[in-house]
Amino acid sequence: MGEKLLLDAMVGRLRTYLRICGHDTLYALDEDLESDRAIRKRAASDGRILITRDRRLATRTEDAILLESKEIEEQLTELSTAGIALEPTDEPEYCGVCNGPLEALPDGEEPVEEAPDDQERIWYCLDCGQQFWKGSHWERIEATLDSVTGE
Ligand SMILES: [Zn+2]
Repeated sequence: MGEKLLLDAMVGRLRTYLRICGHDTLYALDEDLESDRAIRKRAASDGRILITRDRRLATRTEDAILLESKEIEEQLTELSTAGIALEPTDEPEYCGVCNGPLEALPDGEEPVEEAPDDQERIWYCLDCGQQFWKGSHWERIEATLDSVTGE
């Protein structure tokens, strides 16, 4: 079961990883949340866990995970320790670009030109139209997640 998360400006790179793991993950800068107050308000009204490197913001937010590291692998380890599941889902659920819902590309719909010909499954975002497939970018993310979770 995915979590509802909100990433502070400094930890935006985590969004791709968390969305692949089936977490509904908003990014503060995509949502125009600039002040601490706006971030805390959004986390509370959406029921999201705030993920931040800002100690002061974390202590003032009811549901928050404070990350100490600047390195993505170490940040993922910190999240795993905090109880966030880091297992890629079989079917991707959230768009890596905008967090919109993904669906399998219907028969008869043309894949984008960049999509590899041998790709069996392609998903697209209902909100922004971006298409996704399990290519090398995806494999790198899965490999990083595996190294963090020790699989
Ligand atoms: Zn999208």
